[in-house]
Amino acid sequence: MTTATPSLPTHAAEPSLYEDALTRLDAANKIAQVEPETIEQLRRPTHITEVSIPVRMDDGSRQYFTGYRCRHSDVRGPAKGGIRFHPDVSLDEVKSLAFWMSCKCAVVGLPYGGGKGGVIVDPRELSRMELERLSRGYVRGVHAAIGPDTDVPAPDVYTNATVMGWMMDEYSTLAGKRTPAVITGKPIELGGSLGRDDATARGAYYIVKEMERDQGWKPGEITVAVQGFGNAGQHFARLLHDDGYKIVAVSDSRGGIYREAGFDVPSLIKIKNESRRLKAVYCEGSVCEEVDAKQISNEELLELDVDILAPAALEGVITQENMGDIKAKTVVELANGPVASIADPVLFENGVKVIPDILANAGGVTVSYFEWVQNRTGDYWELETVHERLQRRMAREFRAIEAIAKKHKAPMRTAAYAHALKRLASAIEATGTQRYFASGR
Ligand code: NAD
Repeated sequence: MTTATPSLPTHAAEPSLYEDALTRLDAANKIAQVEPETIEQLRRPTHITEVSIPVRMDDGSRQYFTGYRCRHSDVRGPAKGGIRFHPDVSLDEVKSLAFWMSCKCAVVGLPYGGGKGGVIVDPRELSRMELERLSRGYVRGVHAAIGPDTDVPAPDVYTNATVMGWMMDEYSTLAGKRTPAVITGKPIELGGSLGRDDATARGAYYIVKEMERDQGWKPGEITVAVQGFGNAGQHFARLLHDDGYKIVAVSDSRGGIYREAGFDVPSLIKIKNESRRLKAVYCEGSVCEEVDAKQISNEELLELDVDILAPAALEGVITQENMGDIKAKTVVELANGPVASIADPVLFENGVKVIPDILANAGGVTVSYFEWVQNRTGDYWELETVHERLQRRMAREFRAIEAIAKKHKAPMRTAAYAHALKRLASAIEATGTQRYFASGR
């Protein structure tokens, strides 16, 4: 039986997030010049699992949640990547995030491929017990696809160390043995690494310190806006604030606040973590006073005239609509995929230096790798060791990528992808490509 081919739409459809993500490969390959076979392999995720997770709710009802795990590539080692709990999770998003992880792990030279997982859920609507059941149910669904030598998850948006601990515990029960190396970002007591909590932000912070040295920045004169005030955003703001940088704007999913004189970041963090609200305050001890600040939208925050803009929430916030209005001199992508590919050349031409996600937020996966190594060896490191090794790696890869960017007069993103592509290609080509096999016939 033949089936009719559906007629193609007459107008070009918006590219999916995954298609958009892949366009960066083509741009990077103009520099990296790897074999077409390598690019073809990287276009195709290796393994995808979709599960339906039944959860008994506190009111006695049963609800079903859809979860995914995608292993994009394992040519350089087991896949590695977070698990996101968010209402907007989709397979397209999970695939894109997994692809970025393959590139990110290659950028910082970790012996990992890329993976990612997610569940379509708003965890803020669940009780703690429902969240635990969902986390354990997710692991029961995907356990055949994950493992210390297969695919190693970690936290991402709206998942944290507690969730990782439940997941490790569930996996260990299924495996019949304690398996801490199956997941990273765990509580310290369950085999987590010192320094994992702020590692994502700290990696970006070390890059900012390199730029500070190069450009002779005086921290007190450098203004910073941070979109998203969760793990990545809070720690980034805190680390820069501690060094005297002026954090003039922050936001969360409900909107943002702006203060020309800068915020006292520890006060903002205290209130946010106690009340889940972002409030312009100054605290001394437990006494907090409101300070003058302007309410702004997330859109307005992105368009502020600041020295450093750090998108630290979700993907796709700098797009065709606002790319011409970005006034920040440097964009540090703490979030994954905050800039749509169409905006890359516009930002570059407008002189906006973008430190791409696959480099800027690679501190998280780097310390996750340290955690995995510590779990496997049983040798646990001091915090100073974690910081030193992270700093060295971030500075080294930043320098390497900057050199590629300068040599080819290319954006940092293209240079970072070219750097990753070369490492991915050398692993793929080590097992032989058409060039190798055809030449030996
Ligand atoms: P998180 O859940 O700790 O925080 C997310 C923050 O974003 C919250 O403050 C939330 O209110 C805010 N937010 C949600 N929707 C928003 C919206 N529409 N507009 C503005 N703010 C919004 O998550 P996180 O771990 O900090 O992750 C943030 C980003 O960093 C994600 O893109 C994630 O993939 C990336 N990232 C995180 C890590 C990590 O180790 N946590 C590592 C690498 C990359």
